[in-house]
Amino acid sequence: MLFKSKDKIEGSYDVIVVGSGLAGMTAANKLAMNGRKVLLLESHNKLGGFATWFKRAQGDHIFDVSLHGFPVGMIKTCRKYWGKEIASKIVQVEKVRYVNPQFEVETDFTKEHFTSVLVEKFEIEKSKVDGFFEELAAMNFYDNNQMNNGELFQKWFPDRNDVVRFLLEPIVYANGSTLEDPAITYGIVFSNFMSKGVYIFRGGTDVLISMMKEELLKNGVDIQMHAKVDKIVIEDGQAKGVEVKGHFIAANSVLSNANIRTTVQKMVGEEHFTSEFVEKTKQVRLNTSSCQVFMGIKKGESLPDIGELIFYSDDSDFNTDLILSPKIGSQTFSVYYPEIRPHLDDRYAVVSSSNARYEDWKNLSEDEYKKQKEFVIERALSTLEKVVPGVREKIDFIDCSTPLTVEKYTHHQKGSSFGTKFEGLEISMGMHQQIKGLFHAGSVGIIMSGWLGAANYGVIQSHEVDNYLDTVTSPSIEGSL
Ligand SMILES: Cc1cc2nc3c(=O)[nH]c(=O)nc-3n(C[C@H](O)[C@H](O)[C@H](O)COP(=O)(O)OP(=O)(O)OC[C@H]3O[C@@H](n4cnc5c(N)ncnc54)[C@H](O)[C@@H]3O)c2cc1C
Repeated sequence: MLFKSKDKIEGSYDVIVVGSGLAGMTAANKLAMNGRKVLLLESHNKLGGFATWFKRAQGDHIFDVSLHGFPVGMIKTCRKYWGKEIASKIVQVEKVRYVNPQFEVETDFTKEHFTSVLVEKFEIEKSKVDGFFEELAAMNFYDNNQMNNGELFQKWFPDRNDVVRFLLEPIVYANGSTLEDPAITYGIVFSNFMSKGVYIFRGGTDVLISMMKEELLKNGVDIQMHAKVDKIVIEDGQAKGVEVKGHFIAANSVLSNANIRTTVQKMVGEEHFTSEFVEKTKQVRLNTSSCQVFMGIKKGESLPDIGELIFYSDDSDFNTDLILSPKIGSQTFSVYYPEIRPHLDDRYAVVSSSNARYEDWKNLSEDEYKKQKEFVIERALSTLEKVVPGVREKIDFIDCSTPLTVEKYTHHQKGSSFGTKFEGLEISMGMHQQIKGLFHAGSVGIIMSGWLGAANYGVIQSHEVDNYLDTVTSPSIEGSL
């Protein structure tokens, strides 16, 4: 059932899922498929979290925010937990390009092609390349491997900044990784992407989320949007439900898909956790944020085939710190050709993404903020013109989002676009050991981030919720809704 925003929800649920990101939605769907009574609450006016889109110019332009590419594993995850129809719309991105002063490469982003580029173009011995990929494949999440990304690259490709750029740049864009992050996070994310290339959802994010919404409702999930959970209610060390605008809704368990630190510090309250757990939560580093420039191409105009993903940089060499600075010469262009939305007129759009630090935007005056946005817009336009001369004339809509935009729409602390660094995973997974019936699923620890990571983490945590619900002696009151 889809509740209206003004409806006061009565009765009790097996589980209330707070937030409808891909982790929250997937967990809600899986739990409903298992026969649980599920309520999904979302503060925004649509489902999806970061998996979102928006329309501008009276609907003339539609833009995807995070549909740039995900690993092949998403097909299996969607087939298993969302059905064949959704899975069948996932297609491979054919052309990924790098353009920078060190090299130009066009690739389908498969391990085979990367190997041939490393051997033929970068002249690395084949045995070294194989050894590197074997080490990545052998990395196990449960191993206590202390190596960081910088050490990993130095081990296999010493002092080869160009090779590091080729291997790490897409991942830095994808999740803000640095050379200091644990190599395990890079290994798992990269191996996932490298297995069979990069994939995208044909139809656009709007179609995906509306299909998911239908599926949730079909499986009996109750949904309410415009429902910001202010408080997760804890009594005697046990989750009892949530409060929305002062109204209590009861449940045997609560799964939060909100930012992990917000969940612990604001929605639950530090007083309900051990001091050691609170201290560890405070130490969890948030991931960085991003700026995006959305460019809509006029009706009737087209773009040549320049590839679907372009990692473009004017910077002479590669530096993960620099990539986060506002003055960076690097950005990723996602090009949306008419095939992405075959149900619409022949329309094109380009979205430029660059990593960004919240701190570089938060304290600007209104005027400085406006100027900084204009700078980012102009940087995107002038760079795109180098790839498609004259493109400026074809664009009739352009706007820029910043870390403050991300914060405003998702309530993620500091506009973090990929949750937390690695240490967030321990807090997320350990929450139900602190408070009975309280769980978390969502972007943490890099590995559980991104479309696939978040969806899979939703599944993992739904098992934990299910196991917990099996142990709860008083089931929810049947028929009370
Ligand atoms: C600019 C950008 C580009 C990206 N590009 C890619 C990409 O190309 N490929 C890829 O795989 N991933 C990409 N990602 C990352 C990916 O989109 C996210 O990792 C993933 O969608 C996060 O899902 P999640 O389940 O963690 O929840 P989120 O998407 O963070 O959603 C959480 C939801 O909870 C809701 N919420 C929060 N607090 C409350 C509350 N108190 N009450 C009710 N609701 C609440 C929020 O409104 C939100 O809807 C990108 C992200 C960004 C920002």
